[in-house]
Amino acid sequence: MKGYEQQDVYIYNSLSKTKEKFVPLHAGAVGMYVCGPTVYSNVHMGNCRTFLSFDLVFRYLKHLGFKVRYVRNITDAGHLENDGESGDDPILKKARIEKLEPMEVVQKYTVDFHTIMALFNALPPSIEPTATGHIIEQIEIVEKIIAAGYGYEKNGSVYFDVVKFNKDHAYGKLSGRKLEDMITNTRELAAQSEKKNPQDFALWKKAEPQHIMRWPSPWSDGFPGWHLECTAMSTKYLGNQFDIHGGGMDLKFPHHECEIAQAEASTKQSPVNYWMHANMLTLNGKKMSKSTGNNILPNELISGRNDILSKAFSPTVAKFFMYQAHYRSILDFSNEALLASEKGFQRLLDAYHSIDDLPTASSHGLEIAKWRQSCYAAMNDDFNSPILIAQLFEAVKFINAVKDGSASVSEADRTLLKETMSNFIFDVLGLEDAASEGSKVTEKLNGAVALLIELRNRARANKDFDTSDRIRDELAAVGIQLNDGKEGTSFSLN
Ligand code: AMP
Ligand code: ZN
Repeated sequence: MKGYEQQDVYIYNSLSKTKEKFVPLHAGAVGMYVCGPTVYSNVHMGNCRTFLSFDLVFRYLKHLGFKVRYVRNITDAGHLENDGESGDDPILKKARIEKLEPMEVVQKYTVDFHTIMALFNALPPSIEPTATGHIIEQIEIVEKIIAAGYGYEKNGSVYFDVVKFNKDHAYGKLSGRKLEDMITNTRELAAQSEKKNPQDFALWKKAEPQHIMRWPSPWSDGFPGWHLECTAMSTKYLGNQFDIHGGGMDLKFPHHECEIAQAEASTKQSPVNYWMHANMLTLNGKKMSKSTGNNILPNELISGRNDILSKAFSPTVAKFFMYQAHYRSILDFSNEALLASEKGFQRLLDAYHSIDDLPTASSHGLEIAKWRQSCYAAMNDDFNSPILIAQLFEAVKFINAVKDGSASVSEADRTLLKETMSNFIFDVLGLEDAASEGSKVTEKLNGAVALLIELRNRARANKDFDTSDRIRDELAAVGIQLNDGKEGTSFSLN
């Protein structure tokens, strides 16, 4: 019997705002689409959190035996900020700054994205389509939307008529916004606007002469609107209706709202059964973001080269830290939280590695089969990883009780315990054991460097600057940089 026949998964559907039992359109198979990155800069830890949230969903559904087709796109076609009315195309802007072809920018940051995802042990999606590879499909959808009466052309650009659409459909149902309110809030209409209403969004934009990324279309040489690519690629590979669509919370409006409108306008069907939105990673209480610079990059995490970090952390520890929060909760990134996660994860691995050495007897203590089901129950409840991790720590407690003789375990239970822990830690959460060796070395290194920092402080206090400078310089020579700050001295790896 397949795992999914034994487990009922419930998913919080952003559309209905309730947890719903997950019933895929085709028994045993799941179609899932997740909005991928716009490849004009390095992904930050916030972006990583969203992609790791959906890696967990992908892994768990696969673990249950579903055949999952996971489509995650690469946004590599330039689109304008502000829904196609004005603003810059970030890929072109970056190309100018770095003196690269736009496609070189795209290649550089796509490679970076893949490297980072591999570093976090995220599984590659089943299909990773690019927006530039699906221009024809996007043009076809624009044609269908125009034919259905919900799109209009103006000066070579095409816009989606939100007001007209809203007369026949409910625009705003995902984000809970009402068009009337949006209209009252944006009273002034730019005089030179091509749009009939400020809420309309671009389906196709005529390219200005300096715009390099352009394609021929029935309306002009131009480029597609941002929302269109996800409608084109999700329906091409998953069908007009599919099971799960995911992305970060900040994409709910306008991006996902517009995807629903485009799909309903062109196919007369509601495209997605379960909308899932991952919540934000914050830094100092504010959303991590590319544009404000309030972010941490994965490379800074791994090297410790950022002022808020006292040391380097492994990607698997950062992932464990993220999964200690539910994907729908806001999570604040901090050095202290990472230090705590590092300790916790090590405790979990140590307990796991000691299972084989546990003495066996007739068992009394934790009922392993029941405990195993509670691990599933946590994941069945909208992929509740913090509850799952709490269950794994119940097992740690039990293992330690067996070690000190206050509980016992049968041989069969010991085997089941090990298998279950391995399934959830490595397959479902996708954490890495290899890091345990690495993090042991890191731990030892931390201890040794802390000692050297203390000796250096003592030398400085004694005005023995020969010694203090020597400690700093020789550590620097082997790639360990000491950073003196208000809170004391920290170090980073070069
Ligand atoms: P972008 O490349 O800007 O489209 O972002 C890629 C993904 O990262 C989208 O799903 C965003 O919603 C998500 N994202 C952006 N910032 C954060 C953040 N601070 N925390 C979590 N996810 C984020
Ligand atoms: Zn998208």
